[in-house]
Amino acid sequence: MMKIGIYPGTFDPITHGHTDIITRSLKVFDKVVVAVAPNPAKHPLFTLTERLEMIRVVTQEIQGVEVTHFDGLLVDYVQRYGAHAIIRGLRAISDFEHEFQMALINRKIAKQVETVFLMPSEEYSYLSSTIIKDVATHGGALTEFLHPEVARRLQERIRSLKT
Ligand code: ADP
Repeated sequence: MMKIGIYPGTFDPITHGHTDIITRSLKVFDKVVVAVAPNPAKHPLFTLTERLEMIRVVTQEIQGVEVTHFDGLLVDYVQRYGAHAIIRGLRAISDFEHEFQMALINRKIAKQVETVFLMPSEEYSYLSSTIIKDVATHGGALTEFLHPEVARRLQERIRSLKT
């Protein structure tokens, strides 16, 4: 049976940390569905369409990845899709409490849906989309953290917001 994992997130924008988790997931799952949550409450810098486009560019050469979006409850989406688990990345201890709470709530709502946590490579363990947006706002180099196309779009977006 084909094992499918759903990797949900805001991906505003996708960083090397996210890509690291996607690549690691493919050691465990046959297929990884990167599912973007619109998350308007987080006031994303990029539209849903832009976030999807960037993920497609970054993952185009990785076999076994599907890029899509979902609305509503994640566990409903996971069940509708017929996937086997939710994939989440765990960085520092600070992620733990929130992720633990989410996983247990999801289990309460749908007890058959498991959450699998993967740790990124150390070099990405401090990386977040929020930090990257800060670095970009202050003109820092982005090449170590982002795919060149994502870096280009982020710099362009920040420039357009400043003018
Ligand atoms: P969300 O709004 O759901 O937290 P994010 O796009 O910030 O969306 O993150 C999606 C998932 O990717 C989360 O599980 C998050 O912990 C994980 N993640 C984000 N950045 C990294 C990173 N640098 N290393 C490992 N996991 C990460």
